[in-house]
Amino acid sequence: MDLYEYQARDLFEKHGVPVLGGVVAEDPAAAKAGAEKLGTPVVVVKAQVKTGGRGKAGGVKIAKSPEEAEQKASEILGMDIKGHTVQRVMIAAGADIVEEYYFSLLLDRANRNYLAMCSVEGGVEIEQLAVERPEALARVAVDPNVGIDEAKAAEIVQAANFDEETAHKVAPVLVKLWDVYKNEDASLVEVNPLVKTGEGDIVALDGKITIDENAGFRHEDHAELVDVTSEDPLETKAKALDLNYVKLDGQVGIIGNGAGLVMSTLDVVAYAGEKHSVKPANFLDIGGGASAEVMANGLDVILGDEQVSAVFVNVFGGITACDAVANGIVGALKKLGDAATKQLVVRLDGNNVEEGRQILADFAHPLVTQADTMDGGAAKVAELAAAGK
Ligand code: GDP
Ligand code: MG
Repeated sequence: MDLYEYQARDLFEKHGVPVLGGVVAEDPAAAKAGAEKLGTPVVVVKAQVKTGGRGKAGGVKIAKSPEEAEQKASEILGMDIKGHTVQRVMIAAGADIVEEYYFSLLLDRANRNYLAMCSVEGGVEIEQLAVERPEALARVAVDPNVGIDEAKAAEIVQAANFDEETAHKVAPVLVKLWDVYKNEDASLVEVNPLVKTGEGDIVALDGKITIDENAGFRHEDHAELVDVTSEDPLETKAKALDLNYVKLDGQVGIIGNGAGLVMSTLDVVAYAGEKHSVKPANFLDIGGGASAEVMANGLDVILGDEQVSAVFVNVFGGITACDAVANGIVGALKKLGDAATKQLVVRLDGNNVEEGRQILADFAHPLVTQADTMDGGAAKVAELAAAGK
């Protein structure tokens, strides 16, 4: 789960990372009140959206009075930044920035390790820097069992080429950021920019945190960080139905049983879809049971996705035999009635496959096409999805 900047700011503060005051506002009047409350001569009005590049998109604006903060907030609220509508702004105390640095700590899956990245050239051009002058972005492996202690922090600031005086000030902040990462069970903590102010203080001015939801049981307080208004409505619905569903950006709905099979189904559909310019619309694993109810719930969620123009049901009968799955599909289609409006390609294999296929053949639903193989089914559904777009 990605957090908003204001939530990251609060977690930074909780763990002693230096931050400036910030107040969240959902309308311009609240923004004005927020600026009055902060009482600093300059405030920054910042769009709260879960995407980067807000500054470049015009979502970060400086205001020199509460009235101006109100004005800037009215400009920023409702703005679209990379497909995210701004529903809140944070009014932050203005900083007198002398230098902007970059720091991040993340899970390095490929190396089964953590990775710290740090640069003395932070700010809004960091992506460009990483591509054009990768040597200016220090990369230091961090042992998860040790974390960022004083020695590791010293290694990171040295690798990033901080001058000695600044290095001494930045290093303790990195140790605190490690506390955030570890104690909040994060998989990413990024600060860009980490700044040096005119007074020589080091302050985290923008924060990005990704929380590992698998550790949610350790953090009761993380539940309130979830923002249902920004969650995909289909994912919210699927979660309520206890389905293992992830919305993707494509036209072919996918239902399968077992995460491994669903993952490979996504691959073959993506491959078959290249020719027709269609892509998988979702990940949905209905698990071992595949009862009519679960199948109906799954189809219901997928058919609710306006982008979907055809659905591929790819099931391997194991513990649940194919005839039970076929009955599940029949039951689901009966249950959905007129709500089932899109072509379904069904590929059954495994236990009792003949019986399963016979059940679907006897049912003879006009929207159902059977496929013998996974590749054949993927080719067929890609073709149907392209035709139905
Ligand atoms: P991002 O573009 O989404 O990463 O948003 P940031 O919060 O990083 O803001 C973008 C840029 O706005 C920063 O790199 C700063 O240059 C500038 N900025 C943000 N806050 C302040 C501030 O308090 N004072 C000044 N002078 N500039 C700021
Ligand atoms: Mg930033």
